[in-house]
Amino acid sequence: MNELLSKENLDYQERAREVAEKFVRPVAAELDRTGEYGWDILEALKSYELTGAWIPKEYGGQDAGVLNLCLVVEQLSRACGGVGVAFAVNALGSFPIIIGGTEEQKQKYLPPIASGNSLIAFGLSEKPSGSDAGSLRTTAIKDGDDYVVNGQKKWNTNGGVASTFTVYALTDPSRGMRGISAFIVEKDTPGFTVGKREDTMGIRTVPVNELEFADCRVPASQLLGHKENVGFKNAMMTLDRARPGVAAQALGLAQGAFEWALRYTSERKQFGQTVMSHQAIQFMLADMATQIEAARQLVYHSARVIDSGAANVNKIAAMGKVFATDTAMKVTTDAVQLFGGYGYCRDYPIEKYMRDAKITQIYEGTNQVQRLVIGRALTRELKELTDHLDVVVEHFPEVDG
Ligand SMILES: Cc1cc2nc3c(=O)[nH]c(=O)nc-3n(C[C@H](O)[C@H](O)[C@H](O)COP(=O)(O)OP(=O)(O)OC[C@H]3O[C@@H](n4cnc5c(N)ncnc54)[C@H](O)[C@@H]3O)c2cc1C
Repeated sequence: MNELLSKENLDYQERAREVAEKFVRPVAAELDRTGEYGWDILEALKSYELTGAWIPKEYGGQDAGVLNLCLVVEQLSRACGGVGVAFAVNALGSFPIIIGGTEEQKQKYLPPIASGNSLIAFGLSEKPSGSDAGSLRTTAIKDGDDYVVNGQKKWNTNGGVASTFTVYALTDPSRGMRGISAFIVEKDTPGFTVGKREDTMGIRTVPVNELEFADCRVPASQLLGHKENVGFKNAMMTLDRARPGVAAQALGLAQGAFEWALRYTSERKQFGQTVMSHQAIQFMLADMATQIEAARQLVYHSARVIDSGAANVNKIAAMGKVFATDTAMKVTTDAVQLFGGYGYCRDYPIEKYMRDAKITQIYEGTNQVQRLVIGRALTRELKELTDHLDVVVEHFPEVDG
């Protein structure tokens, strides 16, 4: 599985694996049970120099790109999917600033995230606007040197622990999604509060909260890039770059569950032989291993395409997300099946993988929406993909319609 990774990639993978095995796996069940944030894990990530891997060097990061980010998320998620996303969401929150921030904003906000001394969250979704993110309703109306923000955000991952938030709001409500702008909001801004924490099925170590804005005055200097009405494009570009991180979380979950399934079926005996030695089970394990390997190659490829600086990464990022997250759901469900009744009980680690995997098919664009993205790209590319068939098509009998 490591054949095509560079020395630098292997180094990130190895360091992340060490953090996962030493600091994450021993506490994963406890964090899931209590819902506590893994502060000691964050300290370990800092000391292994893994925080801010994706942030450019001039802002305190390592410029290590999306592939290395994915390798770290995959390893953390092998041990705990909640810890995997707690790490990855800092990339989701900081990509808007990397993509669209002014030099001053980058200098101010990226170094504390790169060092791990500050956490960041991404506020796009609202109660009425999830998949249809362009229909968001929070407003940010200019008043003197400030924008007055009113509204509510829903499902803000890292909400309860972040000190910085990238928030999307309408600066020109009459223009719909073309009137959306992005802001950097600091936690202690008057009028801004982190609200209700969601009681989630999985990823329970990471707080997911509502955000409330009540006449919250955000200084105009916090308008991302000092440009109004380009926020929606910024959000879409951010999601394209962040989706391999979700895909890597899914990949790590699938790999982690698979390893448990291998171990368990090689020890559990029924009908006088190990469960693993029944051919029907061998076939299941073979399918799981094959699907995971296919997902891995697509996720790494999508990350490499983004790191290459390619202009259009929309389709490949969506493909990686769909395939890896559907794989994670299938593999973790099969892993529970392979544990039999024990798989359904919390004494064993396997049901948590299945609970953690489910969200990967939902957030950062549901898999239905990812398929829409891929379908639209195929429609755009239709001519390029099929022009060479003209030579045969012209001999077809005429078809109506
Ligand atoms: C735990 C968690 C963490 C999250 N973290 C964040 C975060 O940090 N920041 C943030 O901004 N958001 C976050 N989200 C929000 C997440 O991205 C949305 O939940 C997601 O985009 C789906 O939106 P929705 O829940 O409103 O579902 P809806 O959009 O209402 O969708 C309902 C169903 O309809 C389907 N559907 C919708 N439109 C179409 C269509 N056109 N064609 C086919 N099917 C369609 C969907 O796929 C889904 O199955 C988080 C959500 C959760 C649950």
